Amino acid sequence: MKNDRWRNALHEAGHAAMYAGHGIESRAMLLSNGGMVSIDPPGPSPVGRLYAMVLQAGQEAEKLADEAEPPEPPDGDESKLPQAGDVLPKQRANISAGFRAAVDDDLAVARAIVTYCHSHGQALDVDAWGKRLKLVQDKTQQFVRRNKAAIIGIARELYLTGVIDIVPDDEGGFEISRKQDSECSGARSAEAGGPFRG
Ligand SMILES: [Zn+2]
Repeated sequence: MKNDRWRNALHEAGHAAMYAGHGIESRAMLLSNGGMVSIDPPGPSPVGRLYAMVLQAGQEAEKLADEAEPPEPPDGDESKLPQAGDVLPKQRANISAGFRAAVDDDLAVARAIVTYCHSHGQALDVDAWGKRLKLVQDKTQQFVRRNKAAIIGIARELYLTGVIDIVPDDEGGFEISRKQDSECSGARSAEAGGPFRG
């Protein structure tokens, strides 16, 4: 993914919105070379179709850059907006390690599809891979279109702040909370929650 803060913010917002749409809290972060979403609190990654859709939602949401503008930075200078490591300095090393360890979305989608097929006894059924991938792509596209305003809202907040938590509510929506330095005690495992990038 090219280093374009607004596209990155939309991309990560797509991942986070898909999590939130399925009741899963996550943390979205921007880094100097991309972005990342991790499940918050850390836990095992969801598997199967949902996980493939979460992964696929990044590049799908990135397409919204053609129809939505980023917010204006407070002092008009995008380069002064914070990265995740600036907001959470105590976790800087963990964040960097998580980013380095993360797998690119395309590869992760492919793995999720094959894992899903495997769980249905179709591990080597290439036709099944294709059908399930198409289903994931179609459903993700529908989700992103249907939740366009929410995704743009998450992306705008993330674009300005560098780190946000997206917390699902009981009505199928979600709340966004900003992170501050004082809140960032406690190490976060790089692997937990299956962070992904790109
Ligand atoms: Zn991604």
